Amino acid sequence: MPATLIDGKAVAAAYRDRVQTDVAAFTQRTGVTPHLAAVVVGENPASAVYVRNKQRACEKAGIGSSLHTLPATASQSDLLTCVHGLNDDPTVHGILVQLPLPEQIDERAVLDAVAPLKDVDCFHPENVGLLSQARPRFAPCTPAGVMELLSAAGVETSGKRAVVLGRSEIVGKPMAMLLLARGADATVTVCHSRTADLAAVCREADVLVAAIGRAKFLTADMVKPGTAVIDVGINRLPEEEGGGLAGDVDFDAVREVAGSLTPVPGGVGPMTVAVLLRNTLTAAELQTAGEPG
Ligand code: NDP
Repeated sequence: MPATLIDGKAVAAAYRDRVQTDVAAFTQRTGVTPHLAAVVVGENPASAVYVRNKQRACEKAGIGSSLHTLPATASQSDLLTCVHGLNDDPTVHGILVQLPLPEQIDERAVLDAVAPLKDVDCFHPENVGLLSQARPRFAPCTPAGVMELLSAAGVETSGKRAVVLGRSEIVGKPMAMLLLARGADATVTVCHSRTADLAAVCREADVLVAAIGRAKFLTADMVKPGTAVIDVGINRLPEEEGGGLAGDVDFDAVREVAGSLTPVPGGVGPMTVAVLLRNTLTAAELQTAGEPG
């Protein structure tokens, strides 16, 4: 029997409805409209699409947003000046610096410069530290979105073997932390480019999260029958393969083996945006006097 498809768009829509309701209640209570500021450097077309989607989602949820664009030639200090300005602006609650940044910019220094209370991507070391101690201030957007999808699909993680493919700061590592946390209670293995016998490790998984950025990398022979497979990857296929988007999972083949599976697009992507909205509301609550922080 082919895998059950996990409909990320539907799960995200329901999640966004809950955020919208909570934003309306917050704004009515406080008179404050949560506001997300997006910073974009250069003209990466994919970044422009992501940011536009995030802004549209904000609007629907009753969250204000603004776009701060810098030229591709912007210096580190230009960008830091922009971030510091947003840090100091009391009408801005969340700051999102769209990655990747041009080569001349030290990405880490810029992310570190975002005020921790406005760090809605949960990239600041203070927020990563809180997350690693299981007392998160913000949810890491993509990994928290994956947890929502698992929960919506009724996938049990407690006591299960979870394998995370990829150890990036943005996806792999925080994903492993959420699966490991009390409540989720999975036994977690994190793989990377130096992992020996990767296929055998993957075959042990009851829950498999692929986040490596290689189109169709995870093949059916790497998946134990019945495994829940979450595909985080977003890869643009070359023209000779028809262009378009592919995940890190060989979708058609893995669908025949897995128990449940997320599509790309329409899986993890919409959830990432939905969690970002929730984080923006949380940021506004934390920065508004009298609100439970
Ligand atoms: P990174 O490039 O930062 O990290 C990739 C990770 O995969 C690294 O840990 C790397 O190992 C590992 N890796 C690469 N090749 C292999 C291999 N052949 N075998 C085993 N491990 C390998 O990517 P990100 O984590 O930022 O993103 C991963 C994917 O998820 C991308 O396709 C990205 O576009 C997508 N993404 C999707 C989001 C969404 O909302 N759906 C959000 C964020 C990302 P090593 O550390 O050893 O180099």
